Amino acid sequence: MAENISDVNEVKIEALDTFLKEFGEEATHCVCAPGRVNVIGEHTDYNEGFVLPMALPMVTVIAGKPNGTNICTIISASSAGTMSVSKAEFDISEPAAIKPGEPKWANYVKGCIVNFPNALAGFKAVVISTVPVGAGLSSSAALEVATYTFLEAITGQQASDPVQKAISCQKAEHDFAGVPCGIMDQFISVMGIDGHALLLDCRDKSVIQILMENLKDHVFLITNSNSPHKLSSSAYRDRRDACFEAAKKLGKNSLREVSLEDIKTLEKQGVSKVTINRVRHVINENLRTQEAMKALQTGDYKRVGELMNESHDSLRENYEVSSPELETLVNTARSVKGVLGSRLTGAGFGGCTITLLKEDCVSQVINTIKETYTGKATFYMAKPSAGARQLDCHR
Ligand code: ADP
Ligand code: MG
Repeated sequence: MAENISDVNEVKIEALDTFLKEFGEEATHCVCAPGRVNVIGEHTDYNEGFVLPMALPMVTVIAGKPNGTNICTIISASSAGTMSVSKAEFDISEPAAIKPGEPKWANYVKGCIVNFPNALAGFKAVVISTVPVGAGLSSSAALEVATYTFLEAITGQQASDPVQKAISCQKAEHDFAGVPCGIMDQFISVMGIDGHALLLDCRDKSVIQILMENLKDHVFLITNSNSPHKLSSSAYRDRRDACFEAAKKLGKNSLREVSLEDIKTLEKQGVSKVTINRVRHVINENLRTQEAMKALQTGDYKRVGELMNESHDSLRENYEVSSPELETLVNTARSVKGVLGSRLTGAGFGGCTITLLKEDCVSQVINTIKETYTGKATFYMAKPSAGARQLDCHR
């Protein structure tokens, strides 16, 4: 069966109990922020294109209490099982003097503290997460957005603009973790609404909330390949650079402004076939993502499935970011009756796939994958869930 994802309340209680055990007193503030899965729109974010993620039931919870000093003491005890307990302690009396360091995970927290627009004092906190770490479901954005939401809770100063909150969290990942990520993960973790997916225009940062009730008896299943090959930072950078250069050669700011017609110009300019394939993926993926939004709105799940399949095939052929493990998962899922579409989700090479299927076929898909896949796959139901929020501290 799919992993039994504990509900937010259970994770909250675990965080409150851990806080009491570690610090010998009760937490006064508690928050959560979700991980996410991208339904369609891959490698489009840094090209100012469209992405279509939804927030997941898996969350990062922070329980804590101001301590009246300038010291922050934070314990992470991830219940996703992939991280052991780790403690970080640092002084925040001069935010400008806070620098990245060890342990590495605390850099995401430090970055959010530095980017928080209001005055802060020290605190103690416990972080518990059910978002698998490093699986492409954005445990990093969940940690950043949970941190920022916790800072809002202890100061009573809510961000007036969710866009500014998401951008502050993204900047934390850029500047403190050294990861040049797009804006999708932080946006959906901040803005997710229960029962909705989100179309995000990465150029003007506008969003459209898409009600998912039209899917009727269809669901999204996430399969984690648990395969170690992550898209290396150089492979990611090469693809980014190829896109940026192609746009520049056409005199455009980004591939968002480029159409399939422009490919002829690139060919005439002698641009390599590899780069042209990257460009072709991005242009078509933007079209697919916008069409997927309409298909979701009208309940045309058959079309959503086809677009997911086309997206994956282009990521394999044109963007070259699939892997043998992801191919096995996608092809096996597609071979089962009742599956409408399956694709890799996230940057590629490792991580997860997302599959759209009839609800009553979930067990069959899981069993077929377990029989075929030689690695250890884990499964999650991708129920569209709410974004970051403050929680009460009641047990
Ligand atoms: P993803 O965001 O896909 O899970 P990343 O490599 O972007 O993968 O982020 C994973 C990193 O985020 C971890 O290596 C760790 O540093 C940090 N992280 C995420 N969640 C937690 C957590 N609950 N506790 C501590 N660190 C975390
Ligand atoms: Mg991440």
